[in-house]
Amino acid sequence: MESITSKDAMALEDKYGAHNYHPLPVVLSRGEGVYVWDVEGKKYYDFLSAYSAVNQGHCHPKIIGALTSQAKNLTLTSRAFYNDMLGRFEKYVSETFKFDKVLPMNSGAEAVETAIKICRKWGYEKKGIAENEVLIVVCKKNFHGRTSTIVSFSSDKQAKRHFGPFSGGFVEIPYDDPSALAKVLETHKDVAGFLVEPIQGEAGVNVPSAAYLKEVKALCEQHHVLLIADEIQTGIARTGKLLATCGDCSCPDRHCSGTPEVKPDILILGKALSGGAYPVSAVLANDPIMEVIQPGTHGSTFGGNPLAAAVGMAALEVVKEEQLAANADKLGKIFREEMTRFAETSPVVEKVRGKGLLNAIVINDSPDSSTAWEICVDMKEHGLLAKPTHGNIIRFAPPLVMTEAQLRDCLSIIKESLGKFEKLLAH
Ligand SMILES: *Cc1c(COP(=O)(O)O)cnc(C)c1O
Repeated sequence: MESITSKDAMALEDKYGAHNYHPLPVVLSRGEGVYVWDVEGKKYYDFLSAYSAVNQGHCHPKIIGALTSQAKNLTLTSRAFYNDMLGRFEKYVSETFKFDKVLPMNSGAEAVETAIKICRKWGYEKKGIAENEVLIVVCKKNFHGRTSTIVSFSSDKQAKRHFGPFSGGFVEIPYDDPSALAKVLETHKDVAGFLVEPIQGEAGVNVPSAAYLKEVKALCEQHHVLLIADEIQTGIARTGKLLATCGDCSCPDRHCSGTPEVKPDILILGKALSGGAYPVSAVLANDPIMEVIQPGTHGSTFGGNPLAAAVGMAALEVVKEEQLAANADKLGKIFREEMTRFAETSPVVEKVRGKGLLNAIVINDSPDSSTAWEICVDMKEHGLLAKPTHGNIIRFAPPLVMTEAQLRDCLSIIKESLGKFEKLLAH
């Protein structure tokens, strides 16, 4: 295809595309590993990784190999027929994450919807909750996707405004507050599930206290309530372990063969499940839960297609073969150590937080200010792409195939850009 200038590409999107995003002004046309290139040939470090979908790096040869070779054989049969790849993918995913069964879908939001449906059905058929009474507890500042059911329990005003009437059946509690969950479970007998992110990604990388997940798991067990972990962003090695719900096993790269710290009843995966090559998402659960799903109760034309199955298996193999969890753990520690040291003397950075290579810095300015945006524009000029989330927070989530030398190079770009804003913020 003929080349296009950045200016023209942006003008086309602006004129012909719905304005549901506000992108940084950069037009990308190529990616490889931790790098992306714009249409003028300028090279950047990608510090967003497509919201952690590209953990394995851009255009990973093994994943693209699986994609192209499967694309030549068979791409879609629908689930009206069996295909020769789906069962293999299901076995691989189920064994990797240690669940009896998996239900494959495409996008993250669809997987969350699927988990909600499984949980509700379980509530009626297994827990014996009266018709239409099932409740699911969710957390304030959650992000679980953009469907009309999911935005019904969002606390983001823009995500909700004028999209009502909303779905009922959700109860909101503060994040990182086990006592709030205890209270809800004691007062409402019709709760079937607690839906939670192990770290709130979109909210600005909110890391809960160390014991949080263990405590909520114990409460869920005590009240016969399903713990539903949305690991769409935190999973697949992003936080330094295969899953953010994994404990500190000594072998982070052998697919957590140690005991998980907290075993959710329902696990939701997406994003990096395909390494960014194709939309692949999944919901995992054991038989006593998954068996509420029977023919006719749920489905998707593309969910579980052979292309997705081939890509998904390759993407998980890369995570294992390249020890991406261990690398995320190691580089994440360096990132936070360096940025924390920088923050001690800089008026620009208020806080550094994160786990593995899912990190964020809070800029010392009002959430309504454009400072974080301007810092991101400056970093872009110097060859590093990151994006603000919630005004004054910048998320840093590079592909997990990064080397230590590359990370240190990036740290100097980040610090240099932040340094330019010191005068502005030294109130
Ligand atoms: C991205 C994300 C989703 C939604 O995934 P989509 O593929 O964009 O629908 C859901 N939950 C979490 C935690 C996410 O980060």
